[in-house]
Amino acid sequence: SLAVDYIARDESNPYFTYDPAQCIVCSRCVRACEEVQGTFALTIEGRGFESRMVAGMSEDFITSECVSCGACVQACPTDALREKTVLEKGMPERSAVTTCAYCGVGCSFKAEVKGDEVIRMLPYKDGKANHGHSCVKGRFAYGYATHKDRILSPMIREKISDPWREVSWEEAIAHTAKEFRRIQYQYGRTAIGGITSSRCTNEETYLVQKLVRQGFRNNNVDTCARVCHSPTGYGLGQTYGTSAGTQDFDSVEFTDVAVIIGANPVSAHPVFASRLKKRLRQGAKLIVLDPRRTEMVKSAHIEA
Ligand code: SF4
Ligand code: SF4
Repeated sequence: SLAVDYIARDESNPYFTYDPAQCIVCSRCVRACEEVQGTFALTIEGRGFESRMVAGMSEDFITSECVSCGACVQACPTDALREKTVLEKGMPERSAVTTCAYCGVGCSFKAEVKGDEVIRMLPYKDGKANHGHSCVKGRFAYGYATHKDRILSPMIREKISDPWREVSWEEAIAHTAKEFRRIQYQYGRTAIGGITSSRCTNEETYLVQKLVRQGFRNNNVDTCARVCHSPTGYGLGQTYGTSAGTQDFDSVEFTDVAVIIGANPVSAHPVFASRLKKRLRQGAKLIVLDPRRTEMVKSAHIEA
């Protein structure tokens, strides 16, 4: 009977719901999990009219191997798998293309917005690094955009013991420019410089070096990504003659042997790990040099 066949919605995942009643058993989610993400968390269970998509060993999404990358939600043509924000707040009204700043993969996204609120982060199909895929961080961990602790207006204080004073952008920029000029006048042209965060995009880092070189008229510019990557930079410089990456991410599709030294892309650069795993499943070989036994050493259909 219908009462016996009814399967409750799976609300266990914090970011999306699974409603088996809306599943048309198209297998798109299963294929996205296998072919794009490489986690193999989903399957089709049962036969004929009884068949349906299940996570893990027919368990809740949250207790299965699912890593919440969201590729299945994106692939689902019905509302069987759907972002909770879309169900709660409705469809987005407009979108803007942006870059995820969580890690160095630099995935492109369409930030889909309703009013002033982000409803959904959709990995951008034309993104050079991700080609429409993402990990849990870029797709779902955007709550910081509206977090109550986020500072939205510039603040100034004359001394460290003074309380912060909220000011307009015009006043903040004028004050900063005046102070930069005063310090340079008093202590010399090289007394100031700029350092960008590893959360900045290449374009933002480019703009800061432009400001330093043309505005401050010195070469005191750095990025914290270089500081973190001093050993990598030195090693690459010694080996390949340049202290920077010599390949783009697409080149992994043509690799025959990959060597991973002291990195764990499954957690640190997940979208790259998915792209590498795809190539490994096609037969490329993997060598891992690491004191840890990372997830790259052995996972579904892959062994280093
Ligand atoms: S993609 Fe959606 S409709 Fe298709 S099998 Fe998966 S849950 Fe069902
Ligand atoms: S791999 Fe994840 S954290 Fe890194 S840029 Fe892409 S979505 Fe962001």
